[in-house]
Amino acid sequence: KKKYFIAARMGLIQRSKIRELFERASKMENVISLGIGEPDFDTPANVKEAAKRALDEGWTHYTPNAGIQELREAIVEYYKKFYDVDVEVDNVIVTAGAYEATYIAFETLLEQGDEVIIPDPAFVSYVEDAKLAEAKPIRIPLREENDFMIDPDELLELVTKRTRMIVVNYPNNPTGAVLDKKVAKAIAEIAQDYNIYILSDEPYEHFLYDDAKHYPMIKFAPENTILVNSFSKTFAMTGWRLGFAIAPSQIIKDMVKLHAYVIGNVTSFVQVAGVEALRSEESWKAVEEMRREYAERRKLVLDRLKKMPYINVREPKGAFYIFPNISETEMSSEEFSEWLLEKARVVVIPGTAFGKNGEGYIRISYATSKEKLIEAMDRIEGALSEVKG
Ligand code: PLP
Repeated sequence: KKKYFIAARMGLIQRSKIRELFERASKMENVISLGIGEPDFDTPANVKEAAKRALDEGWTHYTPNAGIQELREAIVEYYKKFYDVDVEVDNVIVTAGAYEATYIAFETLLEQGDEVIIPDPAFVSYVEDAKLAEAKPIRIPLREENDFMIDPDELLELVTKRTRMIVVNYPNNPTGAVLDKKVAKAIAEIAQDYNIYILSDEPYEHFLYDDAKHYPMIKFAPENTILVNSFSKTFAMTGWRLGFAIAPSQIIKDMVKLHAYVIGNVTSFVQVAGVEALRSEESWKAVEEMRREYAERRKLVLDRLKKMPYINVREPKGAFYIFPNISETEMSSEEFSEWLLEKARVVVIPGTAFGKNGEGYIRISYATSKEKLIEAMDRIEGALSEVKG
């Protein structure tokens, strides 16, 4: 905590631009938000029931520091069943979401001055985690013409003696890109050759469209990978704060120390509900229903955006985000987002919130109802029709 305040005082922790925009929007009437990065669905009923039952069954006590045994076993089974990946219980730590898993991985593995390669654009917390760990973030650009994929040649050029970690996040927030298998293998090889950790943050793994597939990085570099995952997006459980990391057992041991003594364990009945989520067919049926709904919304938004002037968009194959190029409007990402809020009362996130390479883009989240999405598309189209007279 002390470290956090020191970092804040030094201006290391920037106020999130996303939050700023949300705050302004919250003071306005009749606003539609396409800025939200969380599912608008309810947690599957069987998972909620399991939590209630767990309370009645006495799951009100302290839990083992690395997580309850049964949940760790369910996570092991899950990786075998879905991806044919073999891990053991002592490779798993249960955390308060992917946020905590990432934070403790950075703190555990990085020392002052270590370099960590972070994509640009990327989910906002990686750079902040790096700063808290006193490591140096080195940004690797993700480019639209390259489908927002990490370029292994560029990665190789950025590797120095101090490089300790690379962050990989597919399906990607904010671009919606999914991981290319060849690229995954190339990143794995570089990590193995240069003794670099891969922090692979994979909370959107089940939201895939068209023919897209997900490849957990741990499949390609099991000794180097810290896989981070979460129940938040998959089962619409953001408020439950349940996630986990999988890594070599010595790393997990070190992560457990920080987790147990600094942060504290995840609530016991929440962990029991996590077992139900992973093991029951009912919850997986609910996941597939959510995925189908996202797929319909994605199509709806893409069809509309493609017809709009000044907007250029590629079809992202994963997560629930679209990252259109708005540079033909001759506004910067921030100008465009502010203009859209004033003009159309629609919230989108400027691409630059995710790194300077996000300039020229906005992030649209379709984790909101079709009705609202249609209304938002009408409004954006109306606003754009007035650009340049
Ligand atoms: N990683 C990515 C890429 C995310 O988009 C998010 C949430 O938006 C998180 C991690 C945090 O997830 P959790 O709720 O599991 O902490």
